[in-house]
Amino acid sequence: MSYTALYRKFRPSEFGDVKGQDHIITTLQNQIKANRIGHAYLFCGTRGTGKTTVAKIFAKAVNCEHPVDGSPCGECEMCRSIAAGTSMNVIEIDAASNNGVDNIREIREEVAYRPTEGRYKVYIIDEVHMLSIGAFNALLKTLEEPPEYVIFILATTEVHKIPITILSRCQHYDFRRISIETITDRMRELMDTEHVEVEEKALRYIAKAADGSMRDALSLLDQCIAFYLGQKLTYDNVLEVLGAVDTDVFSQLLRKVIDRDVSGVLDVVEDLVMQGRELSQLAADFTWYLRNLLLVKTSDNIEDVLDVSTENLMQLKEEAQMVEPDMLFRYIRIFSELSGQLKYATQKRVMLEVALIKLCTPAMEPDQDTLLERIRAVEEKVEKGIEAAADMKDRIVYVNGDGIPGGGESFPGGTAGGYGSRNSGPKPELPNAIPEDVQEVVKNFRSIADEASGMVRGYLKKARLSLGGDNRLLIVLPDTLAASVVGREDHVQELEGLIEQKIGKKVEIDVRQVEEGRHFEDTFVDIEQKINMEITVED
Ligand SMILES: [Zn+2]
Repeated sequence: MSYTALYRKFRPSEFGDVKGQDHIITTLQNQIKANRIGHAYLFCGTRGTGKTTVAKIFAKAVNCEHPVDGSPCGECEMCRSIAAGTSMNVIEIDAASNNGVDNIREIREEVAYRPTEGRYKVYIIDEVHMLSIGAFNALLKTLEEPPEYVIFILATTEVHKIPITILSRCQHYDFRRISIETITDRMRELMDTEHVEVEEKALRYIAKAADGSMRDALSLLDQCIAFYLGQKLTYDNVLEVLGAVDTDVFSQLLRKVIDRDVSGVLDVVEDLVMQGRELSQLAADFTWYLRNLLLVKTSDNIEDVLDVSTENLMQLKEEAQMVEPDMLFRYIRIFSELSGQLKYATQKRVMLEVALIKLCTPAMEPDQDTLLERIRAVEEKVEKGIEAAADMKDRIVYVNGDGIPGGGESFPGGTAGGYGSRNSGPKPELPNAIPEDVQEVVKNFRSIADEASGMVRGYLKKARLSLGGDNRLLIVLPDTLAASVVGREDHVQELEGLIEQKIGKKVEIDVRQVEEGRHFEDTFVDIEQKINMEITVED
């Protein structure tokens, strides 16, 4: 007796048999009923969610002689020839192996001919993201002006690889992952039809392992049935065939982790390896187990959400008492990272052991969670600091914490950027902004500079004035030499003395130079110009 794979044998032939994609099916059926059929469809979603199946049913429906409520009748000539794969109206192309320009050109040539029977030629291009750029361009030309008797259905698991020009010409349908519930129900239905006895728990485990893919679920089920042909399929059989372990093992592992019993943990791993268990599956299942624990720990009436038996629930509740939620968060983080890495790893056992040892020895791990917390705190402080500085600006206009006048953007009506562009509040008054003493010095600066000694006097001619930290006067010079001469301690003292003589008050000075390759205005606010302008206005 030959065995037909369940997935082939029970491939849905009408919309009603397609599970878990009701939102798409309804829309497509309505289009057919209203005779408002599009010319380009994009079906995207994970593998095994029914994209090509739906595409084929759709191809039948649009060609069917007597469609029933938007579904193909399954009886007419067209329905039968499409189902048998002999119709010329349905052309399936696997873009993974036919991805060149020539393949698409061929299609474009064929498209020119009307179908000899039925109403529509339907091109189903699977894995369409594999097309080359040239092929996409060729396809685009056809999509721009498709003959009315042509429908393109593009299917892909990776929609982000499709050029936007193509996307914009297609009706877009997202195929969802199918729920454990839906997959289990479907498998139950098929097993009843096939007269195979299966434990409910076994089906649920397979459905969970299939991760939303009906095709994967059915092929896993196939494997299990083939292995225990003619016998009742039990949960334990399924674990055996799929190389998975029972939750008891996870319970053991967890208890040893909580006890920080590293050698005990490694013994369990040793046993599992000897039994030939699949370690990626183990990591995924253990993550799921930890997730269940977390749910039990954090919610009260969780029975409905959890996919476990009553006795397992009792055990989960007991274990939940033994761990804190933040420990579980950490365990789950480490294990979900591990699950990702294991897919491509060759040393799976070592990686699994390392992850388990990490769980046992939190001190050895640079605690990312804490670290993130700290980074977040620092970020908040910095942000608040910036706000505070902005507040200061509102009051004193432009001095920041560093003592350097805010980067040329904060002065009213000043240089690049402009204060008003960032703050909608009223412009601060200039006289309040600069201390009167400094204003005094600035107004008299040129005469003060004239009294300075030889070299200093020379360099000061090129000096520009700004405001430094602590209300100091900032003398900015165009180069290093000038700045080092003027900035010498005795020269600074000399200048401060001259200032005191002139205005009768003590104003300290700082000397800076303009950074190489930059302009004074890039970094400093020219208060001399501002103050003198102010005077002019007053006059
Ligand atoms: Zn039909």
